[in-house]
Amino acid sequence: VYHVDDNLRCCGYYIKSCILSLMTLFSNKSTWLEVDLSAIKNNVILFTKNKKVNVMAVVKANAYGHGSVQVARTALNAGAKWLAVARAEEALELRNAKITRPIVVLGFVPMCLVEQLISHEVSMVVWDVKQIKSIAAATNALGVEAKLHVKIDTGMGRIGASVDEARRITNYVINTPSLLFEGLMTHYACADDDSLDVTRHQETVFKNIVYELSELGFVPTYTHASNSAAAMYGVRNQWDITRLGIAMYGLDSSDSCKPFEDLKPALSWKSQLIQIKTVPKGTGISYGHDYVTTKDEIIGTVSTGYADGYRRNDNNLVLVGGKRVPVVGRVCMDQFMVNLDAVPESSVEDEVVMIGTQGTECITAEELADRWNTINYEVVSTIGHRVARKYI
Ligand SMILES: *Cc1c(COP(=O)(O)O)cnc(C)c1O
Repeated sequence: VYHVDDNLRCCGYYIKSCILSLMTLFSNKSTWLEVDLSAIKNNVILFTKNKKVNVMAVVKANAYGHGSVQVARTALNAGAKWLAVARAEEALELRNAKITRPIVVLGFVPMCLVEQLISHEVSMVVWDVKQIKSIAAATNALGVEAKLHVKIDTGMGRIGASVDEARRITNYVINTPSLLFEGLMTHYACADDDSLDVTRHQETVFKNIVYELSELGFVPTYTHASNSAAAMYGVRNQWDITRLGIAMYGLDSSDSCKPFEDLKPALSWKSQLIQIKTVPKGTGISYGHDYVTTKDEIIGTVSTGYADGYRRNDNNLVLVGGKRVPVVGRVCMDQFMVNLDAVPESSVEDEVVMIGTQGTECITAEELADRWNTINYEVVSTIGHRVARKYI
C-alpha cells in the first residue's frame, strides 16, 4: 500500500510539474524571445536571389541566440544550401534534429568527436597536417570519406594555414583517397571597416593562392571567403558561397556598415512587470542601495536578470506602456527594477521590452550594444538558455 501510494504521489508530482512547465512555456510570465522566422526568411532570400552564389547560413552559438534548429530549417527553406556552426556539438545537434543538408564546422573539432562528425557527413575546416593525418586515420577506421575545407589565414590572425603551408596541406588532402578537398576558404578581418585596405590585401592574397593551387591541379568543390559585411560591401569576388551570419538576423555588421534597408531584425526580447509599488522618497532600491528615490516613485520589478544575459550595467532602459523608462538600482541575477513615473497607469503583467518595438518606440540590439559598450553580436549571442524562445 505504501508503495502504491508513493508511486501515485510521484505520478501526481510528475503531472503537476509537466503542467507547470507547459504553463511557463505558453504564458508570458517571465522573460522570453520572440523570433520572427519570416524576417529570417526575408533576409536569406535577399541573398539567395542572386543564384550564382550559394548561401551558407551561419547558425553557430544557437543561431546568434535565435535558436539554431528553427533558424536552420527556415534558412534552408528560403534557399540556403549550407549550414555553418562553430563547434562539433552544434553540428550534431542539427543532425539530431534530422537536418540532413551540408553542414561545416568552422572552428576546432576535438579528436574524440571526429568520427561522429565523419559518420554524420559533417564537413570540417582544417589548417594543419597533424590534424589532417588524425582525420585520415579516423576515415580509414570507419571506411568513409571525410569532407575537408582548407582554411588559409590571409590576414585574420586567427585560424588558418599560412600561404606556404597551404600548398603542402592541400597536396596531402588531394593525395589521400579518403579525404575530399571540398572547400578552400579564408576569413576577412576588416570587411565591416570604413576602409577596405585590409580587405583588398586579403582578397589579393587569397586570389593568388586559389589560382596557384589550381595551376597545380588542386581545385576544391567550393571556394568561399565572404561573411555578411563582405557580401554586402566592396568585396569584388564572392566566389561560390557567402557565409551569412549577422545579416541573416537583420542586424548591422558594424556602425559603419549598415545592412541593406530591406533586412529585417528577427529578434525581440520581452518580459513582464511582476510587481509595482509606490515607495516614499529616500527608499533604497536593489543591492547596495546605489539608487535611492528622490521623491515618491513608482517602482516596477521585471522578471529578467543578468543570468538571462541582461547586463549589470548603469544606463539601462526598457519600454513599458510605449515609453522609455529607466532601469534603477543594480540588475540582479533574476530581476531588475524600473522607475514607472512616466507610465503611472502600468499594471502587473504589462509587457516590458528589452529589445524590440512597443507602440512607436524601439530599442534595437545595436542601441543596447552601445549602452553596454559592446557589439550587437555579443548582445544577442549571450542571451541565456533559460530565456524561452517563441517562434512567430
Ligand atoms: C561567424 C563567422 C561568419 C559569419 O560572420 P557574420 O559577420 O556574422 O556574417 C563567417 N565566417 C566565419 C569563419 C565565421 O566564424
